[in-house]
Amino acid sequence: RLEIKDLRRTYEGRPVVDGVSLQIMPGQVTCLLGPSGCGKSTTLRMIAGVEMQDSGTIHVDGKLICDTVFRVPPERREIGLMFQDFALFPHLSVADNVGFGLKTGTKAEKRKRIEELLERVDLKRFIDGYPHQLSGGEQQRVALARALAPRPRIMLMDEPFSGLDNRLRDGIRDETLSILKEEDTAVLLVTHEPDEAMRMADEIALMRNGKIVQQGAPYNVYTRPIDRASVAFFSDAN
Ligand code: ATP
Ligand code: MG
Repeated sequence: RLEIKDLRRTYEGRPVVDGVSLQIMPGQVTCLLGPSGCGKSTTLRMIAGVEMQDSGTIHVDGKLICDTVFRVPPERREIGLMFQDFALFPHLSVADNVGFGLKTGTKAEKRKRIEELLERVDLKRFIDGYPHQLSGGEQQRVALARALAPRPRIMLMDEPFSGLDNRLRDGIRDETLSILKEEDTAVLLVTHEPDEAMRMADEIALMRNGKIVQQGAPYNVYTRPIDRASVAFFSDAN
């Protein structure tokens, strides 16, 4: 379970993230949806721990991960990351890419987890292959397996599907979603596309100018925008 409370971040005197609070339960997908520049990626980077907030707190499964004085380093947050430029390590085999984040366990245990995940993304035949032998969509699925390998409680995804062509995208979205649900991961997915949010989210948090302006079930957010700016955002995107 991910809980963030009143996160704030200012750049050069301008509030970019301006008091964002969210709660995401295991097995739930929340989409942070909003126009370019509204502060989505900055919010994600603070949760990941690669950027420090000015104020606010982050808890994972009830444990404090970060406030203004205390800070768990990124690699110990049990948070998985998937970004648009998800780049696999080109010099590592598919197996070693997937196993990269596995820090504990015997060699045999690691191999088992790698096989299990590649099986699940239907790429076990490539286990000893290299990234350049895979298509974009296949690489994306390896990246998903890599992010899931250490069994993160939380998965942060920043426009992870935007580099894929339209035909591939729907299938990979659905597959990603079902694996994340199976693993009972709490997911925060950033996107500026209402379609993607409608397709993937259990809950949408609509963001504008650093603030969450509306939050709720996708259908409700989509059919009952709270103000003109939200109406414009949804209609511009179509
Ligand atoms: P997009 O949909 O285009 O990815 P976003 O919602 O992810 O947008 P952010 O990347 O969070 O937006 O950026 C929010 C604002 O903060 C932008 O105006 C950006 O220019 C500014 N910003 C981000 N990082 C920095 C930085 N390191 N220094 C100064 N300004 C920054
Ligand atoms: Mg962004």
